[in-house]
Amino acid sequence: MVIESIPKVVGFIYGLLAFIALVGLWYSGRFTRRRALPFLVISALLGFLVFAPVFPYQLQMVALRDTVGLGSPIPMALGALLVFIALAFAFGRVICGQVCPAGAVQELMYRVPVAKRGSAERQTPVVIRAGVFVVFAVAALGLSADLLGLIGLPAFFHLAVGSVSFFVFLGIVLLSAVVYRPFCRYVCPYGALLAPAASKALFRLRRTDACIGCRKCERACPTGEADPAAGLGECYLCGRCTDVCPVEGALVYGRAR
Ligand code: SF4
Ligand code: SF4
Repeated sequence: MVIESIPKVVGFIYGLLAFIALVGLWYSGRFTRRRALPFLVISALLGFLVFAPVFPYQLQMVALRDTVGLGSPIPMALGALLVFIALAFAFGRVICGQVCPAGAVQELMYRVPVAKRGSAERQTPVVIRAGVFVVFAVAALGLSADLLGLIGLPAFFHLAVGSVSFFVFLGIVLLSAVVYRPFCRYVCPYGALLAPAASKALFRLRRTDACIGCRKCERACPTGEADPAAGLGECYLCGRCTDVCPVEGALVYGRAR
């Protein structure tokens, strides 16, 4: 399905433009899950059409020095990835939320109306993902091994149905209908880099004095980040909390205090 004649940089340019549009929606208070839907669909489609901006795999291609797969020089791809990490520090995990095709596919799957499972506990997924990141780094930098290839991330977006790894990632995608973003929260090496940056984000979700303490946002959040004590490193800016908040202006996206 991936059309090799389309340059990968198209995905990065889309990523930047979508990022700007999404931050604009959040900052103006107009972000809703309904308005996020077109971004999720386009991001997922770009994953299948150009395999970009699939940020976790493009990080691995940089680590493996795979210039053919990247479709751009290493410094350019590395620079783009660093820019997006800096943007997470400024604005939170907008990329993971709606721009990265791997995240978008899982977010779309979680919208399928079936019973949900899994814990909103914050620490365990972060610890597991940190361990996976160490394995990923050793595999890519030390052994030149393609860990995300084994998990099937490229096979899935290339629709390589003859490959076993395709079915591994397909299983993860199907699981994401009941467990919120299993790949992002437990595996993604790029998420492991973005989460610490986002936990210190300059612009973020926060409650205001208008909050009546009903805790509907906390019950709606699949990652436990609507708790006012949370750092928001695992907030995917999905919009579930703001959609259910009954008081206008009680939960806003703006400058951190
Ligand atoms: S529901 Fe949770 S993950 Fe989604 S935007 Fe709100 S705090 Fe972030
Ligand atoms: S849903 Fe809104 S009003 Fe209720 S606790 Fe959350 S921010 Fe406050």
